[in-house]
Amino acid sequence: RSNAEKFEFQAEVSRLMDIIINSLYSNKDIFLRELISNASDALDKIRFLSLTDKEVLGEGDDTKLEIQIKLDKENKILSIRDRGVGMTKEDLIKNLGTIAKSGTSAFVEKMQTSGDLNLIGQFGVGFYSVYLVADYVEVISKHNDDKQYVWESKADGAFAISEDTYNEPLGRGTEIRLHLREEAGEYLEESKLKDLVKKYSEFINFPIYLWATKEVDVEVPADEDDSSDEEEKPESTDGDEEKEEDSDKDEDENKPKTKTIKEKTSEWERLNDVKAIWLRSPKEVTEEEYTKFYHSLAKDFGDEKPMGWSHFNAEGDVEFKAVLFVPPKAPHDLYESYYNTNKSNLKLYVRRVFISDEFDELLPKYLMFLMGLVDSDTLPLNVSREMLQQHNSLKTIKKKLIRKALDMIRKLAEEDPDESHDKDKKEVDESKENDEKRGQYTKFWNEFGKSIKLGIIEDAANRNRLAKLLRFETTKSDGKLTSLDQYISRMKSGQKDIFYITGSSKEQLEKSPFLERLKKKNFEVILFTDPVDEYLMQYLMDFEDKKFQNVSKEGLKLGKDSKDKEIKESFKELTKWWKEALASENVDDVKISNRLADTPCVVVTSKYGWSANMERIMQSQTL
Ligand code: ADP
Ligand code: MG
Repeated sequence: RSNAEKFEFQAEVSRLMDIIINSLYSNKDIFLRELISNASDALDKIRFLSLTDKEVLGEGDDTKLEIQIKLDKENKILSIRDRGVGMTKEDLIKNLGTIAKSGTSAFVEKMQTSGDLNLIGQFGVGFYSVYLVADYVEVISKHNDDKQYVWESKADGAFAISEDTYNEPLGRGTEIRLHLREEAGEYLEESKLKDLVKKYSEFINFPIYLWATKEVDVEVPADEDDSSDEEEKPESTDGDEEKEEDSDKDEDENKPKTKTIKEKTSEWERLNDVKAIWLRSPKEVTEEEYTKFYHSLAKDFGDEKPMGWSHFNAEGDVEFKAVLFVPPKAPHDLYESYYNTNKSNLKLYVRRVFISDEFDELLPKYLMFLMGLVDSDTLPLNVSREMLQQHNSLKTIKKKLIRKALDMIRKLAEEDPDESHDKDKKEVDESKENDEKRGQYTKFWNEFGKSIKLGIIEDAANRNRLAKLLRFETTKSDGKLTSLDQYISRMKSGQKDIFYITGSSKEQLEKSPFLERLKKKNFEVILFTDPVDEYLMQYLMDFEDKKFQNVSKEGLKLGKDSKDKEIKESFKELTKWWKEALASENVDDVKISNRLADTPCVVVTSKYGWSANMERIMQSQTL
């Protein structure tokens, strides 16, 4: 094209495209759901804009917020069009090639190790999956603020942009034309596309249509010959009428005036049924439906089920419906980005209209691993995002969401037969369902335990609730995880405090002289080996009226010993001498201890100072 401007793909994007083009990944189907998901995002955007400015929707067909799929078998073109927000020339250049998203290199890396393209959408580069099936792609787009442009590329390191003077005007929106590769012919089969939309795009909240062929019965004069097929009469597709006529025909079979022939016509066929899952009653929604809904939210179509979900309807001053999921796995960058971003996985809808998935105000940071959706009837629709962010109801919604989320997590533990070793808990029933749930809390803990700890640090209001969800190993847990409730149920009579020790590994801790005496006296000690545990214990002071006592710190009391005072007195001179001798070594005090058994002496940290482990952590961080 004479008016085409050429651009080079950003280097990482180019590498990504190479990998996709040459991929042996067998599930090429994923491109379709990525395109439909982009179309749906674009429709969400224009619908959101139309809340404050009706004009943006235009008129006539442009007001129809829908997605259309068309097949051109002859030219091997599959096209997907939407009446979404569209892209300006600048958008096309930036979004489809020159600006790499943060996920691009992460995804390239992942690709090289796993080759699994399924998660492409999660990394924000789903569009490029079109090159799994096409060797040439055109993106025709019309945005309200610009003329119609065409982006095109053969994935050879470059793309071209030209003003569109040859295609039909789109009005508004985007049409993606895939020139399918030889071996991708199956995507020209209507049945294949219907199956794919059913499978992957069931929860798209806009109608998806396929320009589908339909065989219809057409009445033609009996004497006319079959070549007059082209003159179709769409009215005659009405089934009831035909039946009547059929029976008429049976009556005067000898002298038929008309006959019925099969004829092919095409019409838009709706492929999805858009009753939003969160608007239905939780009782009616099946486990399978929740799983599929989760997959579509997470852009992860693997076979893993979410670990748990909570679907509820909040009533009262602030009304909303919500579905929350605990994903089967932590996302690749969950803790990496913890302190820099606030990437929430919660979508906010107001009265069925998608508003944003970047609403930090809905869930606290430590729960951002949850996936889900909130649809509120109380929030106003026609205000800016900024105003919405300050709306009073958000606080109430957030509070309820946290409560429900923590309940959901607690249930994961309650339903897990492995969790209830307490005798006083109700008998574990050995049904199959329970077997499926066996070990689920340990799995949860391994994926998201750190989030619970961060929650204890950050969320004072829910600290106790979160502390109940805490799991750890102890000197008596035999390599298994245990909880504070279980620890307390095993406490020795007369034991007042909950004992713990922190360190870099279990092996190191088990050799610790600090544990000698406690072990001999049969006290259980919690072993904290995660660096975050040090911070955690600065916030977790007590649990159910029991104080936490770090056994490597000053102040450890293992119950009264009548001889304590006597011994202290008789060694007074010696401890004084030691104290003076060690003063230059930064030693604050020298004391008689009752915490040791075999080791003659230990260095302990003062009650209010950093533990030795904390010193270690701080040192490693300031490097
Ligand atoms: P993501 O959807 O995660 O942002 P993609 O690679 O799928 O990543 O798409 C890249 C970008 O291209 C989108 O963010 C969007 O800005 C733009 N885009 C893609 N398809 C469309 C479309 N149908 N309409 C409007 N913009 C689109
Ligand atoms: Mg996308």
